[in-house]
Amino acid sequence: MQALGENDIEIMNLNKTLKKNQALQDLYDEVNSWKPVKLEKSSDVMWGSYINDKDEAVVSYSKASNYPACLAHELLHFKMQMSGYKRMKCSASSLENKELSKRLVDALDNELQHHKMFKDFKKMGFPNNSFYYDGDSETKKYLEKILNEKGNSFHDLITDYLTAIAPGGSFTPKEISSLKERFKNKTGDSNPFEIIDDSISDWIDSEDYCQQEVVRNIYRLMEQPTKTWIGFDNGKGFPESGFFIDNEFPIEELS
Ligand SMILES: [Zn+2]
Repeated sequence: MQALGENDIEIMNLNKTLKKNQALQDLYDEVNSWKPVKLEKSSDVMWGSYINDKDEAVVSYSKASNYPACLAHELLHFKMQMSGYKRMKCSASSLENKELSKRLVDALDNELQHHKMFKDFKKMGFPNNSFYYDGDSETKKYLEKILNEKGNSFHDLITDYLTAIAPGGSFTPKEISSLKERFKNKTGDSNPFEIIDDSISDWIDSEDYCQQEVVRNIYRLMEQPTKTWIGFDNGKGFPESGFFIDNEFPIEELS
């Protein structure tokens, strides 16, 4: 008999996990009937998921004490995409700080999915604090550091605010509302933060998986009007594979 490889062991672990949790098995089957699910060992402690060039749904896993919850989390990202959500992968923008535009689009892509998937995660019976992998406790330290820094503008804080209001995880509702207050006090203008809260809450409540409206509302807090296009691919599909925040423009206008 041949020795079992790492991948064989992983498949055995997966089957064992699925057998114990019907809701997880159903979710797995649903995603697997859309695109074949493949497991791949993560190169770090983070879990992740992506569609590879063979059109397979790849979950990259790592050791975690809450393995079934982490697996559910990644499968729910695929369920979002199955339901019509299109991942945002690049931006072309008149915003002076290009790095900020990239950071904002990446954060929105991740967090908007999380806000919408969280309901299903709870319905599956998992506790709120198991929504992220074990290392989530680092977030607290990070936000504390940001909130103690001096002189941060709304532009500096926007992606950290999205982290602070992310659903699930180790924060209690009381801690989240106190964090929210501290962000608002830091810039002295609570209005843009409230627009973020309201837009995300509409996004969670809507039946629609098209995120354009919530992204427009939030992006315009950075620059309005803005010459910004957000792409669903690496940018090659401009302008069809993506959407404009405000008016359409030819790409040459940005150079
Ligand atoms: Zn996630």
